[in-house]
Formats: sequence, structure tokens, C-alpha cells
Amino acid sequence: MNPKFIYLDYNATTPCDTDVVSEMLPYFTELYGNASNVHYNLGWKSKTIVDKSRENIANLINACTNEIIFTSGATESNNLAIRGVYDACQKKGNHIITCETEHKATLDTLKYLHKKGAEITYLKVNKDGSINLKEIQEKIKHTTILICLMFANNETGVVHPIKEIGELAKTKNTIFMTDATQAVGKTHIDVSDCGVDILTFSAHKMYGPKGIGAIYVKKNVQKYLTTQITGGGHENGLRSGTLNVPSIVGFGKAAKIAKEEIEKKSYLRIEKLRRKLETNLVDSSSKLNGLGAIRLPHVSSISFPGFDGKRLLKLLNKFVAVSSGSACSSASLETSHVLKAMGIDSETAQATIRFSLGKNTTEQEIDFTILKVREILTILKK
Ligand code: PMP
Repeated sequence: MNPKFIYLDYNATTPCDTDVVSEMLPYFTELYGNASNVHYNLGWKSKTIVDKSRENIANLINACTNEIIFTSGATESNNLAIRGVYDACQKKGNHIITCETEHKATLDTLKYLHKKGAEITYLKVNKDGSINLKEIQEKIKHTTILICLMFANNETGVVHPIKEIGELAKTKNTIFMTDATQAVGKTHIDVSDCGVDILTFSAHKMYGPKGIGAIYVKKNVQKYLTTQITGGGHENGLRSGTLNVPSIVGFGKAAKIAKEEIEKKSYLRIEKLRRKLETNLVDSSSKLNGLGAIRLPHVSSISFPGFDGKRLLKLLNKFVAVSSGSACSSASLETSHVLKAMGIDSETAQATIRFSLGKNTTEQEIDFTILKVREILTILKK
């Protein structure tokens, strides 16, 4: 039996857990109070549930509740982190270190700051997508105000050595920000132990609602962040605007579930399915991107050199939702800057499929996907 349409694009977004939705619903219609208006019961109830949700989110990454600031998602969190540090640290310098394989939410923000006078150093990556710590060390100078390197790559799942970067940043007295959008809720993260000062993430990548995210900012680093959205002084004055209570409730519930799943080591089942997918699809004529590097357990980026990438994706998307190129950031099929940075030529990059598995993925779905990819490759070869 063929499974119905298969979803293997969990890095693009995840379905909202039904328990998350149920938890959110009363906060649209019955418990609609403004969490800042706590002088009557309705507002107080909203504040109470926001506090509880913030606690669940803080617990997921072992942060303190006053270090979690709600935003509209990781894009806004990255903007707040990068622009916020740049604005606040002008006296120290204008130099920011990042990497060529970062998400556009980081790269485009840095491009904007460069026009305003920032000096940006883009680290290169090795063929497997990993970075060299030594290179970071060499590039840090007295004017470096921020090291901005993602936790795990959205296209390849390659994980950066966060703890080591954190230690390096500390010795050089530089703020270290990591975009952990693809890692939070999927892998164990302890901000008290990995040397990050700022960490950004989104609810919709971890079975929560879209349009809500957070930024973790270490307590003693908050003074080095200038708010980018001024108004009523919400969120410790770092992000004004009436709190989106239903979404925060959903985010909190998703965080609680994610923590339980990580503790149960649910990712081992997903990793096993990914291994099956790779064992069956990677051979001498295809290439696993990020092979040899540490990767998230649920992502596989596989290139099929010599095939027409657009046709491959189109045919496969009839049965399986997967991505190609930089599809995470736009609907276009422009060549992936991540794969390009890894030394992959443009044609091969176009013929690359990102499979990202999730907690609803079944073995039957993986078997069917393997079958369809093989069938389509045979058709395209003719
Ligand atoms: N950073 C990374 C690594 C991502 O994968 C994404 C989403 N594709 C973002 C930032 C932006 O997240 P959002 O769309 O939720 O703002």
C-alpha cells in the first residue's frame, strides 16, 4: 500500500502538535486578556500562562526565565541579536565574524549592516560543511564585537562545534550568538554549558505555531543589546508589543513535549530511518553532503550529479514533500549558497534534495520514498 502524500520537509516547518493546538484554543476566545493588564483576572490569567510557557521554553535549553524574550520568529530574533549588538557595541568596534553557510536571516542582516559601516568576515567551510576553529581564532581582533555562527545548518544538518566556539569567544571577550533554529527541540542544548551568549529559535520548527519565536540572551549580556522594536517596554524593554498569548502558549507546550521527546531519545528512531534512507540512496553515483561532519539526526542532503534537478524535484514532489537549493528561504530555485560554499558546482547543487525527517515519519514512508526516488532517477536517465 502506498502511503498518502509524504512529508519529509520538517526543516522547512513542522505540523503543529494536536495537543499544542488544543492548549492554544481557549486563549483566542475565552481567555483573551492582555498579559500586561494584570489588574483584573482575565489579564492575570494570561500573564500566568505566559510565565508558565516561558518557564517551559527556558527549561528546554536550561536558561533562566528572564533570559527568554519572545519575538515573531527566528528571523526577527537574528535581526535583534545582530543589529542589537552592533548598535550597542559601537564604542568597542564594528567587526563581526560569521560564515558563508549561515541562513539568509543572518546573511542579509549582515549585508545591511555592512552598508552602514560594519566590517564582516565570512569564514569559509570545508568540503563537509564544517568550520575551522583555528580560522576563527586568527580572525578575531580587538574590534570584534560579535561571532555569529549557527548551531546546525538548515540545508545539510551539519553541526558547528558550539562549545569550543563559546570558549574561544569568552577568552577574546567577544559576544557569541548562535542561530539554533534547526537544533532547538531536536537535540539536547544546555546554554549554561555551551558558552553561548545569545541563541535564537522559532516555534514552528518544533511542532509549535508559526509566527512566534524567541531569543535567549544571557542576563549579563542584555546590556549589550539595543532594542529594535520600541514601544511599551515589553520583554525587559528588549522587544515591545502586546504579547501573542495563544502562540506563546503553543510554543510553551511544544517546548514541554520536545523536552520529553529528547529525554526519551526519540531522535534515535528518526536517525535509524535516516540511515536507511541514506544506505539506499547514496551510492557511487550520488553524494551525501556533510558526510564525515557531525550532523543533526534527521537531515540528509543528497546530490544526484548529472540529473536535471528541476525535473527531479518536480516529479518527486508529486509524492514526497522535499526541498532543493535554498528552498527554505524562498520559493525560488536559485543555487544554494550553502552547497556552493562547500565547493559543489551549481548544476550538482541544483540536483540536490534535502530530506528532513520528523517525529511522524514512518518506516513505510521511507521505504516508499526510496522506491520513488529510484523510479524517478531511472525515468530521468532515459
Ligand atoms: N535560521 C534558520 C537556520 C532557519 O532554518 C530558519 C527558517 N528556515 C530561520 C532562521 C528563519 O526562521 P523563521 O522563518 O521562523 O523566522
